[in-house]
Amino acid sequence: MRIKELGEFGLIERLTQAAASRDDVVVGIGDDAAVLRVTPGSLLVASSDMLVEGVHFLKDRIPARALGHKLLAISLSDMAAMGATPKFALVSLALPQDTEVEFIQNVYDGLHCLADRFGVSLVGGDTVSASQLVLDLTVLGEVVPDNYRLRSGARSGDLIIVTGDLGSSAAGLAWELASPDPDRASAANLREQSIRSHYWPEPQVAVARAWCGQGLLTALNDISDGLASEVNEICTASKAGAVLYADQIPISPCASEAATLLDKDIWELCLNGGEDYQLLATLPGDQLSVATRTAAELGVKVSVIGEIKPEAEGIMLVKGGRTATLSKAGYDHFA
Ligand code: ADP
Ligand code: MG
Repeated sequence: MRIKELGEFGLIERLTQAAASRDDVVVGIGDDAAVLRVTPGSLLVASSDMLVEGVHFLKDRIPARALGHKLLAISLSDMAAMGATPKFALVSLALPQDTEVEFIQNVYDGLHCLADRFGVSLVGGDTVSASQLVLDLTVLGEVVPDNYRLRSGARSGDLIIVTGDLGSSAAGLAWELASPDPDRASAANLREQSIRSHYWPEPQVAVARAWCGQGLLTALNDISDGLASEVNEICTASKAGAVLYADQIPISPCASEAATLLDKDIWELCLNGGEDYQLLATLPGDQLSVATRTAAELGVKVSVIGEIKPEAEGIMLVKGGRTATLSKAGYDHFA
């Protein structure tokens, strides 16, 4: 069935059936606006992200459930990057009239599944018809006033850390865009893993909240556009410089494999690829052991990749004994 046969109200009803009632949702879907209960003393944290067909995803490639997952995951990652706890979501859809109901239903299945895992309640949205598929999600979260962390708090001497491995999402995209080649069957495992990281990113909400609750960090960001870009954002906001050591950057085995088999530059995948949705943070060196232990208890790996420097020293990458400027766009100075 196509959505034009079902109509706007029929569609909204189908998509929102799975939204369970909850104490903090005083008025949910069905009225002109949602009425939500916030925890007394907490600050409200809000963020929106939009995904446009052909720009952010290819409709005939991305699994529909993954599209719903990713739509929410990228906003949850923004909550993580503030140290906030996500609570509520509103989803707006612009849909071509001939969109299959099953497709959009599957998008919502993926979304509801991740929302349940993170305790997020879908409380509203909007549905319109358009010539192109566009999905927009607003997430609302909470944070205790002392606990949120900005990009601007990094100080010279702080260590720079990242969670997890980098480059697997970019490797997945590279595999998706490469034409299939039977000779590459040996890479099936890592290829599948990369494609999974590209389509099913896991936002690092728990470790961010734990670190922020412990007051360990001076600055925090999530890696949506690539490590090079995010380090630059922290340094610009903090009026600081930085030095990163290439040999300490946790390269995903998926990225190494894709680089070899698809003839890609491994550093391009790890520094500029983006969509890893890992955390990038800065903290004083004497807080590192607590931060590492806290992350380990949550099953999250932490790597120290560099140090914050005075602004005048610039933002540098040390690689193979050479030092070059790491711009927002990446490291092409090494090319
Ligand atoms: P209004 O005319 O006030 O904009 P709508 O008819 O658009 O109301 O929406 C009816 C209800 O369904 C509202 O509670 C709205 O938040 C919700 N809603 C509409 N579209 C979506 C969607 N795509 N996902 C979730 N909730 C939606
Ligand atoms: Mg409306």
